[in-house]
Amino acid sequence: MIDREKLEQALAELPLFAYAFIDPNALEFSQRIRHICKTECPMYGKTWACPPAVGEVEECEKKCKSYNNCLLIGTITEVADITDIHETLATRPDHEKITNQVRDLMREQGIQPYILSTEACAVCARCAYLDGLPCRMPGKMHPCVESHGINLIPVLEENGLEFQYGGNIVTWYSLLFY
Ligand code: SF4
Repeated sequence: MIDREKLEQALAELPLFAYAFIDPNALEFSQRIRHICKTECPMYGKTWACPPAVGEVEECEKKCKSYNNCLLIGTITEVADITDIHETLATRPDHEKITNQVRDLMREQGIQPYILSTEACAVCARCAYLDGLPCRMPGKMHPCVESHGINLIPVLEENGLEFQYGGNIVTWYSLLFY
């Protein structure tokens, strides 16, 4: 059982824009999101952290809902030009670092969260998936939220949060199931 008060005290020390404890059953799993992965994302079929390697949406939903709780965390960063994809993606490593810091806070309490984060896994220069080999670092690899077919927008709205804040604000979210 997590000591939520202790965790929240530690979360307050991190540069998080927002966090919320949510019910995994409140998440919307959608074939439409998976369709977007399949038809629009260049990383589809390129890593263990992306579909189809993560399994069918139904399997992903079952896995996420096998946890009783979920912590949603969000970071925002202002960039000079959000249409500059290099500048926008350069904000991602900091978000991933904070996600791992939250993971470590949970681990300190004996909790091993299942983490969904942002974009495709970038831990290795070349994903072992491309060579038909097992993931080299499953403990470090976080599939992205969308890879599991999750439509975050409804749950963000329920918590007074936006998917994007407009202007040159880059927003990233992670989910830590426990
Ligand atoms: S840790 Fe390496 S092998 Fe595993 S999904 Fe990420 S890039 Fe691929």
